[in-house]
Amino acid sequence: MTPGDGPATPPSLDELRRDAAHRLAALPHAEPWLEAELLLAEATGCRRETLLAWPERIPAPEQARRFADLLARRLAGVPIAHLRGHQAFWKQELRVTPDTLIPRPETELLVELALDLLPATAPLVVADAGTGSGAIALALALERPAWTLLALELSPGAAAVAADNLRRQGATNARVIRADWLAPLAPASLDALIANPPYIPNADPHLSRGDLPQEPLGALAAGPEGLDAFRQLIPQAQICLKPGALLALEHGYDQAPAVRTLLAAAGFTAITTRTDLAGHPRATWGLRASGDRASMFGSPGSGGVCRGTP
Ligand code: GLN
Repeated sequence: MTPGDGPATPPSLDELRRDAAHRLAALPHAEPWLEAELLLAEATGCRRETLLAWPERIPAPEQARRFADLLARRLAGVPIAHLRGHQAFWKQELRVTPDTLIPRPETELLVELALDLLPATAPLVVADAGTGSGAIALALALERPAWTLLALELSPGAAAVAADNLRRQGATNARVIRADWLAPLAPASLDALIANPPYIPNADPHLSRGDLPQEPLGALAAGPEGLDAFRQLIPQAQICLKPGALLALEHGYDQAPAVRTLLAAAGFTAITTRTDLAGHPRATWGLRASGDRASMFGSPGSGGVCRGTP
């Protein structure tokens, strides 16, 4: 046997990365280089930076096998977040499973909005309706220890994931409540309600693209116009929010006018829409009418919780 007949040298980290990126480029909506690096990091237990700093290293055979398995499942359409079992949101890594929506970066806008608009040190009761993995409730609970977060969720599977995320991250000021929107909450019991409800129209072709087919349909689709969840949630919020309290909602890029109309019809005031980093109108907020104009605008001693003039 001559040296040339021996087994080929196993591929290096860089060779695996390049080959995977090349194959992932065939997937629609994939980010091939990022995904190749995330999967390689997952398979080897290394950080992405380490992989890039030592490209010539050769992974152990079981790491290479694990990588091949992850790559095959990704090429078969399994979302990256499900392969890794976690997804970054705000400052945390959240555990996610097929029972929950995969947290999206645009939803961080709701977190920013709540942090901007609500007083940081007041003992507020803030609900996250349809919490899914618990992303919004967790981010707010950790940012604002003085607040109490109610993470409301109908799906038992998602509620279990949310509870696990809150527990793992030590968010002792947040708890999960199994609920159909706000059903168990008392009237005028909330200082703020933040929600990323389902809002995609049932027949929208996006539902069959990218990761969406692998996510719970109930967390994504909401009737023929995608507005059914807003139609349920906004009137309930009108009852459960205190006078002057904040309601902030994520919505589709073209739904701001409809959401603003629903909020106005339910008597919300100071209705304002904010755009996401991609420039899409993505979240709209309003204040529950109080009957007392001063309190709506957060003047001292009022029932309103919003800081300053909206
Ligand atoms: N923004 C998500 C998407 O379009 C949808 C999330 C939702 O329905 N709340 O992929």
